Amino acid sequence: MKFMAFVADLHCHSCHSDGTLGVADLFALAASRGVRLIALTDHDELSGLFAARQSATQHQIQMVSGVEISAAWAGKSVHIVGLRLNESHPALVGALRRAREERLVRAEAMDAAFVAAGIDGALKGARAYAPNPALISRTHFARYLVDRGVCGAVSEVFSRFMKPGKPGYVPHDWMPMASAIELIHAAGGRAVLAHPARFDVDATAGPEALIKAFADAGGDGLEVVCAAHKPPEWARYGALVRKYGLLASVGSDFHSPTESRVKFGDLPFLSPSLTPVWHDWPEAKALHA
Ligand code: AMP
Ligand code: MN
Ligand code: MN
Ligand code: MN
Repeated sequence: MKFMAFVADLHCHSCHSDGTLGVADLFALAASRGVRLIALTDHDELSGLFAARQSATQHQIQMVSGVEISAAWAGKSVHIVGLRLNESHPALVGALRRAREERLVRAEAMDAAFVAAGIDGALKGARAYAPNPALISRTHFARYLVDRGVCGAVSEVFSRFMKPGKPGYVPHDWMPMASAIELIHAAGGRAVLAHPARFDVDATAGPEALIKAFADAGGDGLEVVCAAHKPPEWARYGALVRKYGLLASVGSDFHSPTESRVKFGDLPFLSPSLTPVWHDWPEAKALHA
């Protein structure tokens, strides 16, 4: 069988977490942009996957289940994408429910931090931007503060208020990276380190220390092609994938038609020298048939 490349996108968000589109609109958009293999990867949340499966069938695109788990490594926040997992697995479901509950506690503390910075009603405002009341993200705070006129753009809310050391930032204890990998494996999935260039890792150790720790903890793959990476990073992370015997993934991290840097279908293909995370999945094989 001749190898045929297809457009895969294994990282995107719906309004079940901090995306702005419902699952039906998100998948309709992805399909219209030529995506053939997709994973919905909402933050710490699996509730969109039922609708995702229905939409994938409707648009005749291949879909695997997914999630983006918020985790911590060496005191920094990291994101681990879980792919093709059993979304009913009790340990995974329970851990993510706790993560969402802890997010609500953080959101209350952020509200108090904003009050101390002279901005009241931030949590009430953020909730109005969060269609899923169980999943409150910093993004919801950011959208509210933009619409209220406090900042001109979501990215400005992050840089002025919600990064470490800024007035609305509240440190948070995410689960250890190794626990996220373990949960994904327990649920039968593959663990992929999301957008590695985005992590604020110690400049001397660099991202390789994180990738080595991820591989040592049993992690399976890295996002090589994603919105956070430009050609130098494709090469750099491609080389690290080979060095550590990992699989390669692709994901736009799409959140919204107006906020996202990359549109569905616009990312380049993975280099043929890498083994894609989907290499042995029936959903991918169906696209070659
Ligand atoms: P949280 O998981 O609630 O801490 O929020 C993290 C989310 O905020 C990420 O998934 C991004 O969607 C968004 N985010 C983080 N940093 C930025 C930034 N500098 N500009 C815009 N969005 C950001
Ligand atoms: Mn997000
Ligand atoms: Mn992320
Ligand atoms: Mn994401």
